[in-house]
Amino acid sequence: MAAEKMAVTRQTFDEVILPVYAPAQFVPVKGKGSRVWDQQGKEYIDFTAGIAVTALGHCHPALVEALKTQGEMLWHTSNVFTNEPALRLASKLIDATFAERVFFANSGAEANEAAFKLARYYASTRHSPYKSKIIAFHNAFHGRTLFTVSVGGQPKYSDGFGPKPADIVHVPFNDLEAVKAVIDDHTCAIVVEPIQGEGGVMPATQEFMQGLRQLCDQYQALLVLDEVQSGMGRSGKLFAYQHYGVQPDILTSAKALGGGFPISAMLTTNEIASAMTPGVHGTTYGGNPLACAVAEAALDVINTPSVLDGIEQRRQRFIEALEAINAKLDLFSEIRGKGLLIGAELQPQHKGKARDILNAAAAEGLMILTAGTDVLRFAPSLVIPLADIGDGMARLARAAEKVLKPA
Ligand SMILES: *Cc1c(COP(=O)(O)O)cnc(C)c1O
Repeated sequence: MAAEKMAVTRQTFDEVILPVYAPAQFVPVKGKGSRVWDQQGKEYIDFTAGIAVTALGHCHPALVEALKTQGEMLWHTSNVFTNEPALRLASKLIDATFAERVFFANSGAEANEAAFKLARYYASTRHSPYKSKIIAFHNAFHGRTLFTVSVGGQPKYSDGFGPKPADIVHVPFNDLEAVKAVIDDHTCAIVVEPIQGEGGVMPATQEFMQGLRQLCDQYQALLVLDEVQSGMGRSGKLFAYQHYGVQPDILTSAKALGGGFPISAMLTTNEIASAMTPGVHGTTYGGNPLACAVAEAALDVINTPSVLDGIEQRRQRFIEALEAINAKLDLFSEIRGKGLLIGAELQPQHKGKARDILNAAAAEGLMILTAGTDVLRFAPSLVIPLADIGDGMARLARAAEKVLKPA
């Protein structure tokens, strides 16, 4: 018999966890589909999917089955050996995308770290060691390793951690002229999110994405797309680049890739991959059989017309409900995004209230996200039932009303 489990509460967090997070006051213990229950048994509707991670909802039967089956087969071998789930998952990602080669890691930051290292290594071995400049964008988010926070465009995440990696330039997002002003023959890569997630749910424009591709071709630089948040169906297509008809040289995926099990991938072409040789890069857990088995099951479900084609209808429900709230409360200045990555920016007179609305929503039994201080962000399960959208939006309306018109 299992030993009695020690009692822990939200208070325990403040005593034992490094204070880099400020979690909600409730502790979720169970999830099914788009519903979550806390320690007190209170029910929440989940419009967050754990920041665009549990794209098939909580405890999807196909993922639970894959985890259980692999859990009784083989957990880990190291990269001294390869394994079947990793080879199957890589083959399927290649079939579904521009890619010809895959590198597995464990988090978005690690996939991006691999991407930035590959871009520099490729340039230094094929062109010149001085071809090291990386062009990135204001408000971009690429993860929390020192290299990825440095390429990210939010100084609050990198301040205090210097000295930082050098030769990284930031320019405004969606501003092609600004890129033209800094790109040169020493540029090895442009790194961009097709939809900035943490930076406020900002989609790139068609002209911008096309222009970046042209500039990369002109200067023999690589186009690196960070699809950690926008990928795996989130935008309504498997990867957001497929909306633009613009092929990347390197693409990173994480978050929804494992549907809640930690895994990430960097995708690239044969030509670029051929710069690498054994020992140049690696990671202990990358391609772990458990992670790859779950990710393979997630990909098999997500990359089907029945899931991808249902996203637009769900998006419409979200937009209609947000517009109805707006008609009543005059809360938002803009509702934007693609697919089921939706941002609602607060009107100037409500600036700074995103966190208050998030907290009020939790009290009403709804989990939502913010992106910065002025944007509400919604990233629900891609298969969220329409009824859950309706119920959740009723809870959001009550929460917003309480914040704007306190009793
Ligand atoms: C979340 C995120 C990352 C970082 O992923 P981690 O798994 O937290 O390391 C990188 N890029 C984008 C666009 C993200 O949204």
